[in-house]
Amino acid sequence: MRFRLGPRPDVAPGATFDRLRVLDHVVVTDAEGQRRTLCEVQCGCGTVFQVRPESLRSRQTRSCGCLHRDQSAERLRRMWATAKQVAAEEVACPSM
Ligand SMILES: [Zn+2]
Repeated sequence: MRFRLGPRPDVAPGATFDRLRVLDHVVVTDAEGQRRTLCEVQCGCGTVFQVRPESLRSRQTRSCGCLHRDQSAERLRRMWATAKQVAAEEVACPSM
């Protein structure tokens, strides 16, 4: 079994989740008037934002969004690389 039941990852200040580091806990009142605790986190890129502790624990939130942006940029770059390669092959092919 690779899965082992252990203590849930702690979201105390100083804990890190991929690019995110927990700075502090803040209590906010949501739209329904419920008080809830959010984690104030700083992303590796420097962005500070607030996120639900559940999202950190479940690893739903792992960056401010830049992780996703990076992946999109990488995909785009690969697409371009392929396009350039295709263009190069077309040039290399002698046209009859
Ligand atoms: Zn970020």
